[in-house]
Amino acid sequence: MERILVTGAGGFVGHHLVRRLKEEGKWVRGVDIITPKFEDTVADEFLQIDLREMNNAKISAEGIDTVYALAADMGGMGFIAFNHAHILQNNLRINLNTIQAAVDYNVKNFFFSSSACVYPEFKQTEEKVMALKESDAFPAQPQDAYGWEKLTMEQIALYHQHDHGINVRIARFHNIYGPNCEWENGREKVPAAICRKVAIAKLTNNPEVEIWGDGNQTRSFAYVTDCLDGISKLMKSSYAEPLNLGSDRLISINGLVDIVASISGTKVVKKHIDGPEGVRGRNSDNKLINELFGWEPSVPLEEGLEKTYRWIEAEVIKKNT
Ligand code: NAD
Repeated sequence: MERILVTGAGGFVGHHLVRRLKEEGKWVRGVDIITPKFEDTVADEFLQIDLREMNNAKISAEGIDTVYALAADMGGMGFIAFNHAHILQNNLRINLNTIQAAVDYNVKNFFFSSSACVYPEFKQTEEKVMALKESDAFPAQPQDAYGWEKLTMEQIALYHQHDHGINVRIARFHNIYGPNCEWENGREKVPAAICRKVAIAKLTNNPEVEIWGDGNQTRSFAYVTDCLDGISKLMKSSYAEPLNLGSDRLISINGLVDIVASISGTKVVKKHIDGPEGVRGRNSDNKLINELFGWEPSVPLEEGLEKTYRWIEAEVIKKNT
């Protein structure tokens, strides 16, 4: 039986990935500095340890065939825009330790969860942005340290593949969303933040929903099960370069609020305030992943947001009643 390590298994995508790998019959060790907040893990073994410590990375990698490296000290724009040095320090330590331990223990396969944040700021200055293809990452100028760390770690992983023969697979996630994610406390990402704000507007009968900036900034959003399908196809393939994994349906933040408001059955009033907005527009060019695996997102945004909103609304009600 294939023995798997998922780092970041206490987090959003890591938790979903553990469940998927168990459904596929794998033996799974989950590792995280926290335990999953919203549901018990189904991992065969779960180690609550800090991967910034090399010894912990070694304990994690022992006896493992395949590593899925998802652990990261991260959050939405509200976190990323104000914690550059912290993010660089922690995530480089986590990932350098994880890949070194993988090489030391002769792990065969190493998946790295990279990000759309690697792409250069100068290609994302307009709302109606050109979708970003993989080769656009260079010449490099990510907006934040978070993107620099991801881009650096992509290269580090590829050099380890070259020098040590470990099979490296890299996906650049574009705004993955779904239930069981952080939805408050400053680490939440935009779909979760909007679901929470709309749910609170509904619960309190106060229609005002705050949006950072004018809300015309654009992004694309992919549902978590589509992300897991893409990871699975990538891991079964021989494709060893960074690959976009996201939706190519561009939508403004205002548009996202409108969909969530309509799902909730509430009328909201958008209040635009100052806040970190990130790049003006970002979309995923899916030509390569489509050509390679015939992959494209199968969950429409409205359907994925419905599931996410219902879960977050229940969490909001649980907390406030
Ligand atoms: P998440 O924050 O929910 O999960 C990351 C997990 O890493 C957290 O549970 C956290 O506790 C853990 N972690 C942090 N520091 C650690 C440490 N020192 N030791 C052990 N564990 C530690 O994030 P997510 O949304 O599930 O993202 C998973 C991965 O995908 C991350 O690497 C992230 O950068 C990347 N990514 C996610 C998105 C997205 O939209 N969700 C987009 C681009 C890239």
